[in-house]
Order: sequence, then C-alpha cells, then structure tokens
Amino acid sequence: MESLAAGIPEHDETAPDHGEDLPLDSDGMAGVLFELLPIAELHLHIEGTLQPELIFALAARNGMDLPYTDLDELRALYQFTDLQSFLDLYYANMAVLQTEEDFADMTRAYLERAAAAGVRHAEIMFDPQAHLSRGVALETCVNGVASVLATSMEDFGVSTMLIAAFLRDLSEESALEVFDNLMAMNAPLGAIGLDSAEVGNPPAKFERLFAKARDAGLRLTAHAGEEGPAAYIIEALDILGVERIDHGIRCMDDPDLVERLVDERIPLTVCPLSNVRLRAVDTLADHPLPAMLAAGLNVSVHSDDPAYFGGYVDDNFAHLRAAVGLSEFDAARLAANSIHSSFASEERKAELLAELNGREIQHQ
Ligand SMILES: [Zn+2]
Repeated sequence: MESLAAGIPEHDETAPDHGEDLPLDSDGMAGVLFELLPIAELHLHIEGTLQPELIFALAARNGMDLPYTDLDELRALYQFTDLQSFLDLYYANMAVLQTEEDFADMTRAYLERAAAAGVRHAEIMFDPQAHLSRGVALETCVNGVASVLATSMEDFGVSTMLIAAFLRDLSEESALEVFDNLMAMNAPLGAIGLDSAEVGNPPAKFERLFAKARDAGLRLTAHAGEEGPAAYIIEALDILGVERIDHGIRCMDDPDLVERLVDERIPLTVCPLSNVRLRAVDTLADHPLPAMLAAGLNVSVHSDDPAYFGGYVDDNFAHLRAAVGLSEFDAARLAANSIHSSFASEERKAELLAELNGREIQHQ
C-alpha cells in the first residue's frame, strides 16, 4: 500500500501491459469492486443523463405520447453507428423536458447517481439552443437546472458549475443571440462550451462567441478532436483560447500537438465508453487512454452522456480496469488530474486533493 501524499508519478512502471481484454461477468463488469475515488466530473451533458425510465415518467406527467411502446423498444435504439445517429435519438428524447420541474428532476437524478459514483465536483453542460428550438424558454431550462445546482453541496455533497454549451452545427449568430439572452437574464454560468456535430464545424466558426464569453469573465472549454481532426484542437486553443479540450483523443495523430499539450498541461476530458459507443474507437481495449497517460498528457475520465453510453464515471473506470488493465495508481492519477483540471476554486480543489491523498492506493 502506498499513500498518494507522496504525489502522483509521471508514469507507473509497475502497471500491467495494456491491451488485454479481461473476462467480464454477466453485467459486463470486471467482477472486482474497487474503492471509489473522489472525482471531478468535467465532461457531462445534463440532457445525456435522461434515463429511459425518466423519459417515460416525464412523458406520462406531461401527457405526451412517445414513439416507443415500452422501455425495451427505446433501449433497442441505443445501438449507434456514429455521432449523428446518437444525436438524432438524443434530441428526440429531449421532447419530454417541458417544465422547470422536468429539468430539476433530471438534474437531481444525475447528482444522486454521480455522488454514488464518487463525483465530488461536477461541471455540467446544458444545450440551451436544443430547448429553444423546440419552444422551451431559456428561463425554463436554466432555472430548472440551476435550482438544483444551487443546493447541490448541501443535498449531495457535490460542488457544481453550470456550463452553457453551444451547438456547433448552428450559426455563430444563433449562439451569440442565445449568449446575450443568458447574460441578460443573469444565468448563473461559470463557463461556455461547444458541442454537437463536430466534422465540418471547426472551432474557428465561433471566434467572436468565445471572445465575448472571455470578456464576460467566463471560463472556456470546447469539444475538439473527437471525430474531427487534431487540427480542430489547435484551432480551439489558438483561435478560441479555450483552457480545456473536451475529448481531444485525435491529438494522438499529431506528435507535435501531443508535445505541446504535454508542455502546456492542457486538460483533455476523455470519455472512453462514449468513444466506443459512437465508434470513435473500435473497442475499449483499443482506446488511446493508456497511450495518452504514458505520453504524459493531462487526461481525465468522464461520462459525457451516461444514460446513452453505458455508464457513469464509476462505470467508465470499472470498464477501463477490465479492458486495459488500468491500475489503481493510474486511476488515482486520473482522479487527481480531474480535480486539477476543474474550474473549481483553489480552496475546493485543495479540499478534494486532500481527500484523494488521504486514500491508501493499492500499488499493483
Ligand atoms: Zn460531450
């Protein structure tokens, strides 16, 4: 046993070789329970936490008919071929979110589940344009989510930040208009992000939006290098000025970029189960995460849209342990990275790091 108080090493020499698929039990899990580590969840879309059961419950409450007769029929649709096939179902299911109460119930369900997964700080994205386009007012989604985040520490022991994510397949004019409206209503935002269909929608399209958000004192993050090329990561850094990259796995195609990301300690919020479900990688055993860790990149592991991609942050860790032999020591390093890479206050980061360093980690 070794305490993490000694610090997180750059590379765990004793970690097992990666790439071996370990047998999974009937639940698809490793069959071994690992201690949950305190984690900062930095890549999470609240609309992607809408579980099938809640979709049916909200539809019933709102008197809506769903195009699925039962849970099994809905679940059968979760076999995605690419990002777009997921987005089609994701946007269709959002139709059940009609009232502030709906948004609050979804947020509460997520925080309860996240707390059970070890999440102690969560930076939660929402897609205002996806709700506006179907006639739901900005106040409805913002107030619904924010009302739950306001007391998340007391209710769930999870500190939180709200991130408005903009849909990159829409115009920058649309994003600017929504951003101005969010500012006008004093939406309690900590940051902005950029998400949805990546290919063909380069970060540079949103240069003015990000400049405006920076001037407003907001933190900046953007999805880049998930399905899109490594060049999009460079654009997000150099043209948008983001502090963090969501996904970023395609950086591995560009050794010069990897070197830069390592030198500048740029956080990459990697979502392994999402990458497999959306076919960005073939299987978890093929995932670049071990290579990214070995390269010294500042990576952390997150759940993206957990209701759609087979699991929450604890599930991602459990599957990584089974599929790539992720050691407890690397898991602790990923947890530490998540805390360092968060937009939490220095005081909150110190609290969470102290909690992490207090854990006795099994050195495999
Ligand atoms: Zn995402």
